[in-house]
Amino acid sequence: MLKKINTLEKIAQRLEPNRAERHELNRKVEAYTDGFLDRIDKIKAYNSPDESGNSVADFGIRDSGRSMEEIIEILRDHVDLQGINPASGGHLGYIPGGGVYPSALGDYLADVYNQYAGLFFAGPGAVRMENMLIRWMNKMIGFPETAHGNLTSGGSIANLIAIVTARDAKYIKAAHVTTSVIYLTAQVHHSIQKAVRIGGLDEAIIRYVPVDDGFRMDVGKLKTTIEADQQNGLNPFLIVASAGTTDTGVIDPLNDIAKVAQQYNCWFHVDAAYGGFFILVEEVSERFSGIEKADSVTIDPHKSLFLPYGSGAVLVKDVQALEKTHVYHANYMQDAIGDIAEPSPCNLSPELTKHFRGLRMWLPLQLMGLEPFKAALSEKIWLTRFFYEEIQKLGFEVGAYPELSVMIYRYVPEGEDANAFNAKLIEMVKKDGRVFLSSTTIKGVFWLRLAVVSFRTHLSTVELCLKILKNAVAKLSRKSMLMV
Ligand SMILES: *Cc1c(COP(=O)(O)O)cnc(C)c1O
Repeated sequence: MLKKINTLEKIAQRLEPNRAERHELNRKVEAYTDGFLDRIDKIKAYNSPDESGNSVADFGIRDSGRSMEEIIEILRDHVDLQGINPASGGHLGYIPGGGVYPSALGDYLADVYNQYAGLFFAGPGAVRMENMLIRWMNKMIGFPETAHGNLTSGGSIANLIAIVTARDAKYIKAAHVTTSVIYLTAQVHHSIQKAVRIGGLDEAIIRYVPVDDGFRMDVGKLKTTIEADQQNGLNPFLIVASAGTTDTGVIDPLNDIAKVAQQYNCWFHVDAAYGGFFILVEEVSERFSGIEKADSVTIDPHKSLFLPYGSGAVLVKDVQALEKTHVYHANYMQDAIGDIAEPSPCNLSPELTKHFRGLRMWLPLQLMGLEPFKAALSEKIWLTRFFYEEIQKLGFEVGAYPELSVMIYRYVPEGEDANAFNAKLIEMVKKDGRVFLSSTTIKGVFWLRLAVVSFRTHLSTVELCLKILKNAVAKLSRKSMLMV
């Protein structure tokens, strides 16, 4: 038996590379990432995917390992520069973030120490750190000290936690679902509707409150709709507003909505997944006024705090409500409860064992301080304003003046269908690849979107984007003239 154990141990020891081996591995990975970061401003924001496609699938898991060189080669040739390059400052589509480098070191440290950040008893330091970050964000949005929340993997999970918490706080049991009403606008992020469905509220009534010309919730209509619903014996229980919509980056009138929510005893959720951290920018912070009156807020550090993907947060004013939905005790956990100096993430979210994701947020904030983050956020706003002015000089039509750093615009050609023209335009930009733009359709109109959220996007990037659009319009116009 001992011989067997010894033989197995020898093989299992390969899971623990020695110091020299570790250094060798680190060196190779670092050479690879340096090669990427040193050239990041020259690497395309969009690369047409690898034609062969299957190389990763064919690179199977075997009994014996492979060399780091071979592994990096697969990453380099078939993974890392396929499709959108989210690390690129030229990523001006969806909502990018960039991924500040020190976060990678935070993940590295979290993984090496493998801290258990789910339970205060198991990782008091790690949980204290995550709770400190949650309190910092709560303070930032004006929540009281008694509020709490959870660091999630992203905004979708944060929205889900908020929606199910609202459901339980308002006692929406199966028997009440079909008469319970949720109010939102067509501009909310689809993760809200998804959360409603996952949360067992698919049969609840959803009222799409009309928006004004600037795509913000019409609060007068919200109020009359709720009143009518109440009179008809229905149960209004949840209002969802956005602070930074995905389509056009606008903030709903939060103060007015809060008043209505309070009057009709509705849970008030604000989705600030994209916009949240712009509250740190003095010149726009006033626009978030009213967010402090919400019951819950979603905010994504992997968007407007420029962290790499995998970092969201939900902030909830009433901790008991959050616990009511998420606490569960099991006998095998009996040693773990009792010490309640600090709330534990596992009692505030669906997760038990979780990544120590606080470190990837805490480390860059500690290392660099808030100043560069604030400057970068303000820079994004100004770059969007700059684009708003310059794109009109190129003959484009624009949506409303940008509230934060997302805006819509389109080119209306003479004698040609504008929707089709702009669809072709975006294809051309994609083919060029130096910048990546996305589009949306609002009330049947095809718009191009600009989302300036990467910390790597600077003036030169926006100028390049304008140049690419200008050339693409010229080329497309020439083509259609030839066809006539
Ligand atoms: C991105 C976004 C979400 C979804 O967040 P993920 O982190 O992508 O899961 C939700 N709401 C808004 C407003 C967003 O911009």
